[in-house]
Amino acid sequence: MKEIERLASGERLSLEEWRALIADEESYPTAVLGEMAVSVRDAIYGRRVFIRGLIEFTSYCRNDCYYCGIRRSNGRAERYRMTPEAILDTCALGYARGFRTFVLQGGEDPYWSDDILSPLIMRIKESCPEAAVTLSLGERSDESYQRLREAGADRYLLRHETADSVHYGRLHPSSMSLDNRKRCLRTLKRLGYQTGAGMMIGSPFSSVDTLAADMAFLQELSPEMVGMGPFIPHHDTPFRDERRGSVALTLRMISLVRLALPHALIPATTALATASEDGHILGFNAGANVVMPNITPEREREKYSLYDGKKITGDEDGSDLCPLFEGFRIAGYEASMERGDYL
Ligand code: SAH
Repeated sequence: MKEIERLASGERLSLEEWRALIADEESYPTAVLGEMAVSVRDAIYGRRVFIRGLIEFTSYCRNDCYYCGIRRSNGRAERYRMTPEAILDTCALGYARGFRTFVLQGGEDPYWSDDILSPLIMRIKESCPEAAVTLSLGERSDESYQRLREAGADRYLLRHETADSVHYGRLHPSSMSLDNRKRCLRTLKRLGYQTGAGMMIGSPFSSVDTLAADMAFLQELSPEMVGMGPFIPHHDTPFRDERRGSVALTLRMISLVRLALPHALIPATTALATASEDGHILGFNAGANVVMPNITPEREREKYSLYDGKKITGDEDGSDLCPLFEGFRIAGYEASMERGDYL
């Protein structure tokens, strides 16, 4: 396991080495990687898992990503857009319930100009002074990221989706590019956002090579957050007949990311929890330390359909998180409502 030791001392691995770590289960058993990842995580964050309130505030999108249920060409997707007031109310309600991070996620909806978003972010920060605001609004200009940062946004989630440009081109129309995605991520880091990258696991045309490229890219970018979940087909997309990504490989990748980026905040994602009943716990046991319960008001939630069968449970709507947290406790994890910044 000399590669792992080199990772621990902060060294970059070659693509060849990453390929071995990803694919050679005999030399590097998933369970062993998981145990190593857990001890690395525990040494930094302990057994706390940070809870973020996710608000899916718009399902309009100008992009046409082949995998995504709210892509522009999906005429069957129900579209909604919460009002700034409704978003503010959702945050205030969440704040009263103890949430200290709000993740505002949506499609790339041109309605949300900087002139509308900036005052909204400022108002959220005023009424929820201890809370971190995380944005996940896709690709914007450098100037826009700067204005939103100045308005008070603390963090930004923008998965790179794949670090292999040919693969990127098979997941997205030609109007989108990996270069632009990377430009956005570098800008976000430069502006001082805690920045999240990440990728779907098992997306169509992915391979050991593309995952190795992902790991090399993550090592280079060194994001504060890394989101990964299995690809899950959506019935109204060009990828409707593609296979779902593997839970086991997702867990293995979580462990490898934990070993490569010991301090990273890594969610046990909704896609993982959708693909597996104990997805959250399996994710924690692989090295994850964040959960993002959906606190989008009921009316809108069903319409934010990125993939089929997305997990929607009563205990995840922010009104009663006790059953979820109790499950974590039994598995040896403590749900923490702290801001949970990058350490
Ligand atoms: N528009 C924002 C938010 C996208 S939704 C952005 O571009 O960043 C958040 C993530 O959901 C995406 O980055 C993608 O990785 C994931 N996702 C989309 N469709 C999916 C699918 N079919 N299966 C699994 N994950 C999916």
